[in-house]
Amino acid sequence: MNFKMQGVENVRLRLEKACATAGRDPATVKILAVAKKHPAEKIREAYGAGLRDFGENGVQEALDKQEQLSDLDICWHFIGGIQSNKTRDLATHFHWVQSVDRVKVLNRLSAQRPADQSALNICLQVNIDREPQKSGVLPEGVAELAAQAARAPRIRLRGLMAMPRVSDDPAQTRDSFRRVRELFEMLRGQGFTLDTLSMGMSADLEAAVQEGSTLVRIGTDLFGPRPGAAD
Ligand SMILES: *Cc1c(COP(=O)(O)O)cnc(C)c1O
Repeated sequence: MNFKMQGVENVRLRLEKACATAGRDPATVKILAVAKKHPAEKIREAYGAGLRDFGENGVQEALDKQEQLSDLDICWHFIGGIQSNKTRDLATHFHWVQSVDRVKVLNRLSAQRPADQSALNICLQVNIDREPQKSGVLPEGVAELAAQAARAPRIRLRGLMAMPRVSDDPAQTRDSFRRVRELFEMLRGQGFTLDTLSMGMSADLEAAVQEGSTLVRIGTDLFGPRPGAAD
């Protein structure tokens, strides 16, 4: 039996509604709980309410939490910017890295993935709105990076991750998500077997689901505002 947690209940309901509107089966959209800046106990609580996938954007913060939660069967996703001197930690301690955006990082992750672990699941992060301050491969570079990922022996390319430009206009946001989906479909058309379209956060879950997201990354709506700073 799962324990109840209000945030988890709310997000599940919201996701069900979004799926109903989009004519989709809620079982095809997974919730990735983003607990960055929140203490490990929040993750334990959400785990108790049934969530299994957790995302972090800071390496050290994630490693600390993993140590505190080593008794739980969590699937850990890294979703933050990647410095190449941190790839060994990522290759060793995560099940997924969703923010791969360049070939150097890709090859280091592949080379550093321990032999006794299965291939590292990755998504390519796409800078869909070409924002200079954001990481991610530009749309025209996606096909080449995907081809490199397919050649990396210890990497399993699962799909794309993106964060659209922040906008008050839901139509703009939805258009960004649509362009990510088109890239995803283009890759599939080229023969890549992909199953993960990681898009949608607390502010734009509905638009992402409309455009085919299979994984929504939710922080604020699950855990409340992040303690301390704006990020
Ligand atoms: C923080 C973060 C999220 C979650 O954002 P919320 O608005 O709190 O739901 C999702 N994706 C990435 C990459 C993040 O850094």
